[in-house]
Amino acid sequence: MIYRNPGSSFRNLVAGTDVKIPLANGKYVTGINFDNAATTPPLSAVIREITQFAPWYASVHRGKGYKSIVCSDLYEQGREVVREFVNADKRDVVIFTKNTTESINMLAYALAAEKEQVVLTTDMEHLANDMPWRDKFTVDYIALTKAGRLSLRSLESKLQAYEGRVKLVAVTGASNVTGYINPIHKIARLTHQYGARIFVDGAQWVPHISVNMRPPDSVEHIDYLAFSGHKMYAPFGTGVLIGPKATFDNAIPVYQGGGAVGLVSQQSIEWDDPPAKCEAGTPNMMGVLALITAIETLSKLNLNSIHSYEQRLIDYAISGLLTIPGITLYSIRDGTEARVSLVSFSLEGLHHSQIAEILSQKAGIAVRNGLFCAHPYVEKLLRLSDEEIKYYQTHDDKKLPGLVRISFGIYNTISEIEVFLDLLSHIASQRQYYANKYSYVLEHNRPGGDGKRADFYC
Ligand code: PMP
Repeated sequence: MIYRNPGSSFRNLVAGTDVKIPLANGKYVTGINFDNAATTPPLSAVIREITQFAPWYASVHRGKGYKSIVCSDLYEQGREVVREFVNADKRDVVIFTKNTTESINMLAYALAAEKEQVVLTTDMEHLANDMPWRDKFTVDYIALTKAGRLSLRSLESKLQAYEGRVKLVAVTGASNVTGYINPIHKIARLTHQYGARIFVDGAQWVPHISVNMRPPDSVEHIDYLAFSGHKMYAPFGTGVLIGPKATFDNAIPVYQGGGAVGLVSQQSIEWDDPPAKCEAGTPNMMGVLALITAIETLSKLNLNSIHSYEQRLIDYAISGLLTIPGITLYSIRDGTEARVSLVSFSLEGLHHSQIAEILSQKAGIAVRNGLFCAHPYVEKLLRLSDEEIKYYQTHDDKKLPGLVRISFGIYNTISEIEVFLDLLSHIASQRQYYANKYSYVLEHNRPGGDGKRADFYC
């Protein structure tokens, strides 16, 4: 396949894109990273800011020293940068967390009240937007269509059936397995019509497309949103939770300690106002600097341009994958093309862990394989029965089911996809040879393995 413009004008903005890595044969090649849905490399601008700011680093909210004041101001400005980025309302608080998982757990604790209240989540969620609700609410799951997309019919019938008891609809903006983008504002409209609120897991959504929470007086607005810095080129441990301040005003925070309080005695606690109340302990100032630098860079590049560039990459990859015999894709082209830049597949005759291993060892291509921490979704896409799942849960030495995922960032190129497609075509044509050569290896059998099965990792 010949493509006229194989480069990416974004490539030199990202650190480490030219790093050489070793192959199994001892040769070195420039690594190809198609695992951006797990985490992205840092933007060079982020590294530069961190280095330049380092001499000014000091405690946040904990001193009258000049540097402390500079850091505290920057940290607080960070909330405004985030607010503007997603057009959050001024009555919302922007809480800095460690990542999306922590944000969702924090929200679940803040909202938890009576057990009779219902949280509707979906069959396509990452475990981070499923497990935190389970022990605090009655949880039900919005079903999928045959194509694996979210069924709005199922959403509406559940909202009707629960007759006003649904407190929250917790849904992903985009799936980390199929890449499908959900019609969030339509879902918000339906949710609000039935008196519930909507939380959007933005981990795979916010880095790839322009997101607008819309004003609270719009029936299509997003009530709560979470996302992670490390999936948008800012890997310094910062996540975000946004929602109405009132939600956090009366809730007891999950983490308690210094920085979250006014005056405390052994008999009583005077809580600070949110967001400080929700951020006990020393704030991750450098993480926030990284995040706001990434936001400013991505905004300058324009999220719409990023989205259309990444669409070209994923379209090209899907077209190529469809020509390889034995490949099954787990998201279909259905005309809407509402997807982010990732796709999952399997290749008949080879286990997903073998494919990932071969791609890495032969060409230095990093992909992800397994269940991507979206176990129920992958189980449904693979049509696993309850008995089969039980079987895998109770047989540690069995090959776990799963898929292979490729996910692109702004710095990936058509040329890299061609390298990947060429190798995958070759593997597909020599399946038996590769099946014998790369026998399935459990992590705990490897030197330095930690005894856990690699396929469970997110
Ligand atoms: N939701 C989705 C859709 C994800 O893809 C991920 C990360 N794989 C998460 C939540 C969790 O993100 P984090 O690991 O940053 O907490």
